Amino acid sequence: MSVLKTRFAPSPTGLLHLGNARTALFSAFAGDRFLLRIEDTDSERSRSVFVDGLIEDLHWLGLDWGDGPQSSVPTEGFFQSRRSEIYRAYYERLEAEEMAYPCFCTQAELEIARKVQLSAGKPPRYSGKCAALTREQVQQRLAQGLKPALRFRVSSGDEVEFEDGVRGPQHFRGEDIGDFIIRRADGTPAFFFCNAVDDALMGVDCVIRGEDHLSNTPRQLLILRALDLPLPAYAHISLITGDDGAPLSKRNGSVSLKELRERGYFPLAVANMLARLGQYYESDPGLMSFADLRAGFVIGHLGKSPSRFDPHHLDHWQEESVRAAGHESLWQWLFGETRSIVPDANRAQFLDVVRSNCMFPSDADQWARVFFTDEWERPDAEAGTELAAAGEAFFLAALDALSAADHTDFSGFLDRVKQRTGLKGKSLFVPLRLALTGRHDGPELAKIFRLLGRERMTERFARYADMAC
Ligand code: GLU
Repeated sequence: MSVLKTRFAPSPTGLLHLGNARTALFSAFAGDRFLLRIEDTDSERSRSVFVDGLIEDLHWLGLDWGDGPQSSVPTEGFFQSRRSEIYRAYYERLEAEEMAYPCFCTQAELEIARKVQLSAGKPPRYSGKCAALTREQVQQRLAQGLKPALRFRVSSGDEVEFEDGVRGPQHFRGEDIGDFIIRRADGTPAFFFCNAVDDALMGVDCVIRGEDHLSNTPRQLLILRALDLPLPAYAHISLITGDDGAPLSKRNGSVSLKELRERGYFPLAVANMLARLGQYYESDPGLMSFADLRAGFVIGHLGKSPSRFDPHHLDHWQEESVRAAGHESLWQWLFGETRSIVPDANRAQFLDVVRSNCMFPSDADQWARVFFTDEWERPDAEAGTELAAAGEAFFLAALDALSAADHTDFSGFLDRVKQRTGLKGKSLFVPLRLALTGRHDGPELAKIFRLLGRERMTERFARYADMAC
């Protein structure tokens, strides 16, 4: 059986955001073997903290890789900054075979030529000015101290065709591409050169990446063909947009994985949301395990049109993940401080409340304070008015019912309050809930009753009996 190798090749110039995280997820899902490569040739912008950050984020999301670094300590294999000798050998080969040539045109010259072409209604292409320099002319310029870029030669008859895994058949003509730079005048490599060479050398079979890279692909295929290197298959996934239809950015809702992790999102919620962003599952039973998300993923189910990121979808999966979380993982998800105030005897009941009422650890913390401490948020002015309206007699009845009932017997308690006050429905439940928790929303009253215990409930009812006097 053939093993399909895929990869994720981030540039460590910032935190991992949703767009790149989705590319990583799809790439990992698509391959039998998955590789992580750090594209850090831009030494100005690459930072080792971002390498560590993205490794942490990818692991958090549930990804693992057979090949690739596990920390920011650069190893020969998977950091492009350590592979310059490899690229140099390929540059030399292209130059020796005259498939690439030194180009001495300055930025200013290139800019003028571009403007002239554009104003004549032509697409900007390199004019070919340095394409036919003789060896002597090149030597002369080098002797003057001029630093050339290295330009790849594309003949106008060249054709590049490939089948994109998402976008179908693609066709590019050499004359539309023009000779392009593969190494800048300052000696730094063009990103797409190293990227193509590495995919070939690392045995990558299928490249999954954002559609913003589609225009690089014909140039990369030309380079690989010229070097007799194997060609991977490509699948360019559609971009993610914000709710304004513009590409997802910080301005319109993009968030980093680090931020989501710190807010208390479950990785499974993020993975369930991302896996459905522009990809559909043949049968979709709701929240899926990471293994099921992977098993049901099909490249052919990736859509061509942009996918909109909707934060409500993420929250939906978060809610589902909290509901489905196991006892221990839910307990560990809580803040340490929250765990320290939950008595052992109440842990299971408290987690039950968390599971059905909370989305984030901060919500759980508020409930723990309501149940187990006296530092909880008291009813606001509006609730205070409702409590006052319930009246002294109401809370005296509640206190009386409480002293009579077994403190675990909620329905016995409720029957007594009903009997004594003649109230039912909202006018019965709302003041009880407000007096006990300070809030209109929350877990079922029966659960609140059991978690609070007689002493705290007595204290709280008494406070509002007083207030109503
Ligand atoms: N380093 C490139 C990026 O982060 C990778 C592009 C690719 O996946 O081929 O955009």
